[in-house]
Amino acid sequence: MHCPFCRHADSRVVDSRTSDDGASIRRRRQCPACNRRFTTIETASLSVVKRSGVTEPFSREKIVTGVRKACQGRPVNEDDLAVLAQKVEESLRAGGSAELDAYEIGLAILGPLRELDEVAYLRFASVYQAFDSLEDFESAINSLRAEREERAAASGDAAATDDEPTADVVPDRA
Ligand SMILES: [Zn+2]
Repeated sequence: MHCPFCRHADSRVVDSRTSDDGASIRRRRQCPACNRRFTTIETASLSVVKRSGVTEPFSREKIVTGVRKACQGRPVNEDDLAVLAQKVEESLRAGGSAELDAYEIGLAILGPLRELDEVAYLRFASVYQAFDSLEDFESAINSLRAEREERAAASGDAAATDDEPTADVVPDRA
């Protein structure tokens, strides 16, 4: 890149450091013409293509704003929303695509939101997936219910196998 001091067309990297979270790299550069040094910061670009075709940088704040509406009246606080937005960004970055549309972002929100609050998830999904009938709600609720029962069955089994040996051991130790 151009030297910011003398506009020389080239520069030499003298040092590179990855940030602690691994999301950016700082490079110390030196201009071969004027010998002055400057720093550049490199991050992967993540942009959102809006329906109008306009591109804007991805923003966690916009994720929070979008999800907050679905969470009205639910036991979800600002920290929960911040964590959710972070998970969404991480999964989008892991997807490796530099340009995202509203559909992909909505899809990345559904999973973490379902873990956070099932009612908020249903509200969000009904808008995002354009539910237009009671049957759409019914099938979404049925799939939540089926997953919940599966989880309950799985943790029930685990508790049973954990409990059996301890029940015999505890009275002896006391
Ligand atoms: Zn220079």
